[in-house]
Amino acid sequence: MSFVENTSDENVNKSEDGENALPKASMELLQSIVEANQSYVSSFGEKAKLVGAPRRKVAILTCMDARMDPAKFLGLSEGDAHVIRNAGGRASEDVIRSLVVSAKLMGTTDWFVIHHTSCGMQSHTDEEIRHMLGLDDHAEHHHHDKKWRHVWKSARTPAHMEWMTFGDLAQSVVDDVQRIRVHPLVPSSVRVYGYIYHIHHGTLESIAEANKIGEPTE
Ligand SMILES: [Zn+2]
Repeated sequence: MSFVENTSDENVNKSEDGENALPKASMELLQSIVEANQSYVSSFGEKAKLVGAPRRKVAILTCMDARMDPAKFLGLSEGDAHVIRNAGGRASEDVIRSLVVSAKLMGTTDWFVIHHTSCGMQSHTDEEIRHMLGLDDHAEHHHHDKKWRHVWKSARTPAHMEWMTFGDLAQSVVDDVQRIRVHPLVPSSVRVYGYIYHIHHGTLESIAEANKIGEPTE
């Protein structure tokens, strides 16, 4: 179990060799994940022959929200698409890095930016997140909630990290398609689409303004 770090949680058992073992809940989680993988491997079959370039020449940028499974709501299988996920499905520099690789090295031609309703990145502002992390100047009001407490403060703490929160959902899709479209490393031949996924019924809504901006420029 060396690939999972031990925590300092009180609920830690000693293993036979005296080292700290995983807490029970972590052990059960790990076991279920390893078993699920074993089951997947047992029916792996033809997937061994897949190549790295996405068969459907498509790349998807979407949120990491656990309620969304792009493979399911877009009908994708292994080998079909690049799927890039982060908080909000935002077009950060690192996402653009991946998209450029996706097109240049792996031949994708159509990219979908898919944000969603009830996104956590819409329920907070960057300022609020900095405040919860204790990174702003209002130390006396900081959250003492356990999950926000452990921020390592030094000169290297990225106090001004951009959290890429947003206020207007449709506008956030337009902004990201625009950011991708005008990036100097993005091929002009790529088509970029903008969509909103409705978390409570699974529908994809096309954002016309984003699709217009995302049209190929050559
Ligand atoms: Zn989200």
